[in-house]
Amino acid sequence: MSLVSAILESLEKMVDENGWSSVKSVTLRVGAMRQVIPDVMKFAFEVSVKGTPMEGAELAIISVPIKFSCRGCGAHWGEEELGYLCPSCGGMEVDMEQGMELELESLEVQER
Ligand SMILES: [Zn+2]
Repeated sequence: MSLVSAILESLEKMVDENGWSSVKSVTLRVGAMRQVIPDVMKFAFEVSVKGTPMEGAELAIISVPIKFSCRGCGAHWGEEELGYLCPSCGGMEVDMEQGMELELESLEVQER
């Protein structure tokens, strides 16, 4: 679970810099392309925060669906449709607009 350790690293830095005594809850936005299973991630988080200021913090995960856009015609669509081909012009020049997120949405902390 390298995703979890990457998140913990940046959280620990924030806790250090701000002098918070503990973190109560953490909300993440995670894109569907990350293929994160929320329960697995929560478990990994729980185990990894033992002995840190994040111990006991609740992890909430907001799942961000995959969305594509077409460079050719500018159409937008989601993963439930055709996927990597533009459904309106059939073009293959396609960008992923969202779905790769791994962002901190919000944080609830205990200040000293
Ligand atoms: Zn198109």
